[in-house]
Amino acid sequence: MIELNSSDIQFVPGIGPKRAELLHTELQVKTIEDLLYYFPYKYIDRSRFYAIAELQSDVGYVQLKGKIIRFDKQGEGRNQRLTARFSDDTGTIELIWFQGIQYVQKQYKTDNLYVVFGKPALFNGRFSIVHPDIEPIEQNALQANMVLQGYYGTTEKMKSNFLNSKVIQKIIFTVIRSLAAPMPETLPAYMVQKFNLMPLHDAVSTMHFPANTQRLAKAQQRLKFEELFYIQLSLLRIAKQRAVSSKGYIFGQVGAFFNQFFHECLPFELTNAQKKVIREIRADVGSGHQMNRLLQGDVGSGKTLVALMVMLIGLDNGFQACLMAPTEILAKQHYDTLTQFLKGTDVTVGLLTGSTRKADRVILHEQLRAGTLHILVGTHALLEDEVQFANLGLVVIDEQHRFGVAQRAKMWLKNEQAPHILVMTATPIPRTLAMTLYGDLEVSVIDELPPGRKPIQTVHYYEKRRGAVYRFIEKEIAAGRQIYIVYPLIEESEKMDFQNLTDGLNALKERFPNFAIGMVNGRLSSTEKEEAMNQFSEGKTQILVATTVIEVGVNIPNASVMIIESAQRFGLSQLHQLRGRVGRGSDQSYCILMTPYELGKDTRKRMEIMTRTNDGFEIADADLKLRGPGDLEGTQQSGIPFTLRVANLARDGQMLQFVRTVASELLDEDPFLQRPEHSILKKQLQKMQKDSVDWKKIS
Ligand code: ADP
Ligand code: MG
Repeated sequence: MIELNSSDIQFVPGIGPKRAELLHTELQVKTIEDLLYYFPYKYIDRSRFYAIAELQSDVGYVQLKGKIIRFDKQGEGRNQRLTARFSDDTGTIELIWFQGIQYVQKQYKTDNLYVVFGKPALFNGRFSIVHPDIEPIEQNALQANMVLQGYYGTTEKMKSNFLNSKVIQKIIFTVIRSLAAPMPETLPAYMVQKFNLMPLHDAVSTMHFPANTQRLAKAQQRLKFEELFYIQLSLLRIAKQRAVSSKGYIFGQVGAFFNQFFHECLPFELTNAQKKVIREIRADVGSGHQMNRLLQGDVGSGKTLVALMVMLIGLDNGFQACLMAPTEILAKQHYDTLTQFLKGTDVTVGLLTGSTRKADRVILHEQLRAGTLHILVGTHALLEDEVQFANLGLVVIDEQHRFGVAQRAKMWLKNEQAPHILVMTATPIPRTLAMTLYGDLEVSVIDELPPGRKPIQTVHYYEKRRGAVYRFIEKEIAAGRQIYIVYPLIEESEKMDFQNLTDGLNALKERFPNFAIGMVNGRLSSTEKEEAMNQFSEGKTQILVATTVIEVGVNIPNASVMIIESAQRFGLSQLHQLRGRVGRGSDQSYCILMTPYELGKDTRKRMEIMTRTNDGFEIADADLKLRGPGDLEGTQQSGIPFTLRVANLARDGQMLQFVRTVASELLDEDPFLQRPEHSILKKQLQKMQKDSVDWKKIS
């Protein structure tokens, strides 16, 4: 009898200490339960037997039933090979082994009936299968009812210890048969019934040994439901409980700060989308609950202005506000933008970054505590404990994907009650991912650009067009425009990348002796970076050669061309972000993607998408499909305590939407999961979060 939570997996027949160790180190399988949740990554249909006569060169894996007529051994030593002529009523085929020859000869006899499984190859007009799976028909108990055979992921290390997919399957077969009790249900019984879900035990064993494709689909559906449901439940529970229990500061009135800015300083009309979003936020900060809101809007949609206006409402109600940016360049730029906007008002703004001098820091700290500083702009430096406010009411976080949930939570501690939080992001996250990454946030979207912007024209050029690109640069600069040229600089190959960057810069200087060319990269000190940015923004340099340090948020309207070198090395979201650096003024802007001629399929696709659309959401969806959610920026830092085993965010959007509604309705009825039938939910949530940071406590 085997207990589900036992970690003595070595005593399972077929495992033993060595393989137990391998399962642990290679697959993180520690308990019987882990083993049962190690699902096949693909299934092959074994319900069909082929007749040898019907084999064709492209059939893929097939299953044959027949007899071995005779064995032939050729060669000597390492070059030995064993051939068996295998035949059914319709024809013959060769089975070939290069290894384990003695074993095969001992194990298999002529004239017995066997089932052979493998991928036939056509060679000299004859079909053969190298190293087939072969089993006696009557002994094929495991496979007797097997229609779909699961294939399990293994590693080289496992294989060299004979722990292959088939062995794993046998082990799991044994485990399921000898379980002391069926696996206990992990969802409330009423839900299993209401949503017509397969019971857990059935679902798990069906995943390993599906009777047919319908049953497999049903099992997958049950497990996807559960996986996604618990993620949504844990995220929404935080939000709902916070809504019920934690009070928020009330920004009840709009006063002098806001009105003065609105009537005297605002240089343009707000777009309808900006107005809509400001209304949504106002309703939130006036409700008495703490706001946790995500403000999504494509690059250049005017999020900063929205943030400023909300901050002013905060000031009107006696609170301070802060704005946190992911890089010094951005923090500085925000600081400049705000000071510019607020010229002539009484609002005080400070800047705090890693390179703020000690003496200035001391002054800032004092002004903050005294409440004489209204708005503080900065980098991660704002998170430090000695940064204390008199009365912080609103935290704006720009480009959230560079910050984690834990950091967001840290800001909640900066006042007695958690301040309102507004997270801004230009990374258009697909809805499914937003629901998981930011599942605890309300979402506002600015879906409109300020008027007069022309869509950026994007082209993809191979290296041989460089001459044309240079002529184009010349033409644009002659027309008074400025150019960005971005090089990849990725840590692993940093030295080489840096060389490319410097070579690129030198080539440009040679080609354009009359233009002023600046450079920013991560190796420069922040003063040097700032200097280079300033020169570009003031038009003193015409070309800025840069790495991705300029990726997010930088706003220089006169720059009209973005050239991305080695564009194949960037992901879609990043390319879109970089492209967003241009197209900010009223002139036509261009983005040129430079790549070598040899490109993989995915890269070609990325270039194709970039040249076809400017729609950030379409790009984000494509990105999710091409790369899968695990690689997308933000998922690692998201702090979400889960890995998806069965569900897939790119494909299971509908299911996700459905379970989110289920979880939300359930929490409306029972926000603290106090009903007896919900104790199982609490237990599962605890289990899920055992190993992760419990940042709920912080709220
Ligand atoms: P992002 O959403 O990328 O942060 P920004 O806030 O940097 O965008 O805004 C981009 C530019 O558009 C800025 O120069 C800003 O002053 C300008 N802008 C913002 N709102 C409007 C508007 N309603 N009309 C015209 N220009 C605007
Ligand atoms: Mg911005």
